[in-house]
Amino acid sequence: MDLQRSVQFLKGVGPGRGKQLERLGIIKIWDLLYHFPRDYQDRSLIKPAHSFSQGDLATVKGTVIAGQESKPRRGLTITKLTLQEGGGTFYAVWFNQPYIKKQYPPGKKLLITGKMDRGFGVPQIQVTDHEVLDGEEGLHSGRIVPVYPSTENVSQRFFRTAIMAILRESGTEIKEFLPDRILDQYNMPCLPEALYEVHFPESMESLNRAKKRLIFEEFFLFQIGIGLQRCKNTRQEKLHAYGETKLPGLLLKELPFQLTSAQGRVWQEIEADLDSPYPMNRLLQGDVGAGKTIIAALALAKAAGAGQQSCLMAPTELLAEQHSRTIKRLLEPLSIRVEFLSGGSRKGKQKILEDISTGQVQVVVGTHALIQDQVTFKNLTLVVVDEQHRFGVRQRAALQDKGHKPDILVMTATPIPRTLALTLYGDLNISVIDMLPPGRQQIKTHHLSLTQAGKAVGLIKKEAEQGRQSYVVCPLVEESEKIDTQAAVDLFDRLQKALANFSVGLLHGRMKAPEKEAIMGDFRMGKLDVLVSTTVIEVGVDVPNATVMVVWDAQRFGLAQLHQLRGRVGRGSQQSYCILVADPVTQEAKERIAAMCRTQDGFILAEEDLKIRGPGEFFGTRQSGLPEFKLADLVRDRQQVEHARREAEELLKADPELRNPANRDLLDHFASRFPDFARYSDIS
Ligand code: ADP
Ligand code: MG
Repeated sequence: MDLQRSVQFLKGVGPGRGKQLERLGIIKIWDLLYHFPRDYQDRSLIKPAHSFSQGDLATVKGTVIAGQESKPRRGLTITKLTLQEGGGTFYAVWFNQPYIKKQYPPGKKLLITGKMDRGFGVPQIQVTDHEVLDGEEGLHSGRIVPVYPSTENVSQRFFRTAIMAILRESGTEIKEFLPDRILDQYNMPCLPEALYEVHFPESMESLNRAKKRLIFEEFFLFQIGIGLQRCKNTRQEKLHAYGETKLPGLLLKELPFQLTSAQGRVWQEIEADLDSPYPMNRLLQGDVGAGKTIIAALALAKAAGAGQQSCLMAPTELLAEQHSRTIKRLLEPLSIRVEFLSGGSRKGKQKILEDISTGQVQVVVGTHALIQDQVTFKNLTLVVVDEQHRFGVRQRAALQDKGHKPDILVMTATPIPRTLALTLYGDLNISVIDMLPPGRQQIKTHHLSLTQAGKAVGLIKKEAEQGRQSYVVCPLVEESEKIDTQAAVDLFDRLQKALANFSVGLLHGRMKAPEKEAIMGDFRMGKLDVLVSTTVIEVGVDVPNATVMVVWDAQRFGLAQLHQLRGRVGRGSQQSYCILVADPVTQEAKERIAAMCRTQDGFILAEEDLKIRGPGEFFGTRQSGLPEFKLADLVRDRQQVEHARREAEELLKADPELRNPANRDLLDHFASRFPDFARYSDIS
């Protein structure tokens, strides 16, 4: 049996069923083997019918001695077979399956599974599964039976029969691709055994062993893919070099502060990447306020000093604009020309585009729109991406292929636990700024119920009297921007009344960009005491004079978001506060709010968040480039992740491109399991 053939060629499939299976992601015969059960039913205990109680899931063996059919009303046919077992009898009942009576005449031996009904004297089973016993072992009963994810039209019986047939007939075609050494070390079964046991487990223990191997293999292959990608990155030399330049040094001298030791270390790491003959692929992690922007500015300055172009991308216009202001302030004194490029069409945009294409602009700040087609650079060699944990492996690969093999620095404030970072960003080198600039204060965090919200207003008033500023954030629920905006407007009206002597501004998603910028500008310059906003200020805004962050309906925010929001205050030297106004109902929401009040450490919060929500939710699977693992769970199986990563790394160290004949099966297997990945890694 050729497992790589279309599933249509499997006995009993054909084009119609083939289409149905395709919708379940099953294209090749092989894919059926990796269509794992979503659950199992233990039907291994065959006992006499009378030993089961009312409502039990019973599996019973018997010989048909009589059959009857009745039609109590239109559209309902009841088939009732009488079966004999040992000395007694029991009934088996089917609804609307009129063929049953003919198919199983007296004398047939059946294995019956279903719900036991003891209400009629004679034990009666409502059949959910049955099969004929003709000497062969049971497939649908009398064992631990797999339950498959399916659509309505493909039955459980189909899956079981088809998969068993494949397992029986594939013989040596299911090839082991993991080295024996690894199987031995972690006491894992070989692939044919694992596949057999995951579908038709002998016992719960053997099922667990099979799963352990398949989970390991999932992580292992993923890590191999990442390793190959990394190898590709370091195989292709870049076409540019920066050489000696004074600009970063000059910039450092001009700063009103010293880099923290963490910033210093990270800058060294980045500078070494820039000086290396291979393109940089680095992730810069640092909690909110850790001071990532200055590091980006140093890199941009280095590129500019070498006469190259670079760009800084931010996820929103507002942030891009703020970055542009900061970067201009830092770099223009060094005679570096920095331009802001927005998505819309502004006065002078044409001229800027022109100056970018001729190389007169050295640094361009904007949203990710700026690496799309209409913008042409003369010699773009460095791309810095801010706050982009939504940037997957593939997008980065696409960016690499932009022609110049630019150096890439991805900055994120999302604190990702180490194991996960290695899994998610294994193809990147990771730098962490693990300390905040000196003098930062603990942000006092409190939870208030809605009825206590007046206290928050009191705090805002008190701070405003001292000349300090506050944010009030209300959630964007995204179902309807209109309703959300209305909520923000209502809150704004109420606060304006309550804070009559102060100036309150409003910012929401339905405003046009210039309007937003004007409001932000007013807040930044201190013309506004309070800024009421939907979550557009979620990331990156830097107003050191702001000391209060009030989050309305805080139960609607995820932990990562809350942490980001809190990071907007405590940026100056004044005591700052974060007030979470919420009446949490769900356990999860309660835990999130409690965690916020308990700690300010982004990494601890990230761990909490993972525990509360699981990684899929945490990262947003599709956006993050995180693969959807079939069996594996990044949190539950953390140890496996770590083992798999270590083993993959070791294997690739000895054979970086899997060219060793001993790894041929692994390479083949990888290429057929992850064709996309294989393509990007230039292998297969
Ligand atoms: P983030 O990592 O969140 O992007 P920023 O780069 O916006 O942080 O920095 C936060 C604030 O800290 C800015 O006002 C910045 O000027 C300041 N800052 C950065 N590094 C230092 C430092 N070493 N010492 C003092 N202040 C610093
Ligand atoms: Mg930032």
